[in-house]
Amino acid sequence: MKYDVVVIGAGPAGSSAASALSSLGHKTVIIDPCDEKKVCAGVLTAQYVRKYGVNEAFVERKLKGVRIAFRDVKAEINYRQAVEYSIDRQAYDNFNVNEAIATGSELRKDLATSLVETDSGVSVSVSTEKDTIDAEYAIIASGISDLSRQFGGTTKYAFCVQQKKDVEPDHYFEMDLHKDGYSWIVPKSDHVLTGTSSIIDYPDIPGEKGLIPIDGPVEKTFSDKILLTGDAAGFVSPFEGEGLYYARRSGEIAAEILSGVMSGKYQMKDYEDRWKKEFDFSTLDIISGLLSSDRALEMFVREIRDNTRFHALVEDILTKENKKLSLTDKASFIKVLKHV
Ligand SMILES: Cc1cc2nc3c(=O)[nH]c(=O)nc-3n(C[C@H](O)[C@H](O)[C@H](O)COP(=O)(O)OP(=O)(O)OC[C@H]3O[C@@H](n4cnc5c(N)ncnc54)[C@H](O)[C@@H]3O)c2cc1C
Repeated sequence: MKYDVVVIGAGPAGSSAASALSSLGHKTVIIDPCDEKKVCAGVLTAQYVRKYGVNEAFVERKLKGVRIAFRDVKAEINYRQAVEYSIDRQAYDNFNVNEAIATGSELRKDLATSLVETDSGVSVSVSTEKDTIDAEYAIIASGISDLSRQFGGTTKYAFCVQQKKDVEPDHYFEMDLHKDGYSWIVPKSDHVLTGTSSIIDYPDIPGEKGLIPIDGPVEKTFSDKILLTGDAAGFVSPFEGEGLYYARRSGEIAAEILSGVMSGKYQMKDYEDRWKKEFDFSTLDIISGLLSSDRALEMFVREIRDNTRFHALVEDILTKENKKLSLTDKASFIKVLKHV
């Protein structure tokens, strides 16, 4: 049986792409072995919550703010209005894939071993451990994986280790900054998750391991028949490491463009034009670049704690729908951190 679209990976990128495609009437299949536990802090950012809302099927805790520390310098931001949520990542993925199935997508619990654009260039063929699946188009939503890498997927990442601790949770996301990233504490319903990252190798502590893209979007996210989405395409914001919003949104954009390609309205390259127009990582890139020394990190936290205007600026970056800074804000941000 030939499908319109084969989606490889049933994380947030793949599930949202499949949901949108089948809602638009396209014959869609998702391939994922569904046997891997995702290592994720599970924070749904204000940007995500504003656009998509949340569902009690996966919410663990409403967050009131963030605590940011560098060594013994500590600051706390209590969000004025926007909300973030701490979620159960497994339940969240299950919810999304079930939504895709409910809209008509087929789920095959299988591992894709290869994907080729056919010689004639009219379709794609996916070999899996159990079968061969033919489709007009493919969406690669397989995160950081061998399959993604074969198609120009992301190759630079931070190494993360996370563990569950039986500690009474409160309502704050805690970030302990260090030069290579940050360590975190995320409250869940009856415990907390603690984790840390390094750009060199996995930190030598016990826990579950995961990778997070750190080099921004990859060079090319489309070919004649294939689109790259989510982590596979490197869509994770620098500094925060927010990936769930960009995975879901890129899946939706990919679906809309593919649907338009099939009806003659769009071309494959329109996908790249669209996400480039929507996703702006430049503000957080600037922050990441500036926070590259111990002195800058200390100044950053001190200013959040002591400087009302800077405090409000950082809160806006974390909680606004559009994380793009105005030129005046960008200038004052740089001015503060350049004084180190
Ligand atoms: C430690 C850690 C903490 C994080 N915390 C947060 C956070 O708090 N908030 C946030 O927004 N983001 C966070 N992220 C980032 C977020 O988890 C990712 O950006 C997001 O999961 C990307 O979604 P995706 O759908 O692109 O890929 P994934 O969620 O990785 O899904 C890829 C899917 O593809 C499947 N797959 C892989 N290879 C194949 C194959 N060959 N055939 C078939 N299927 C395949 C996998 O089984 C998987 O289900 C965190 C990441 C890490 C590592």
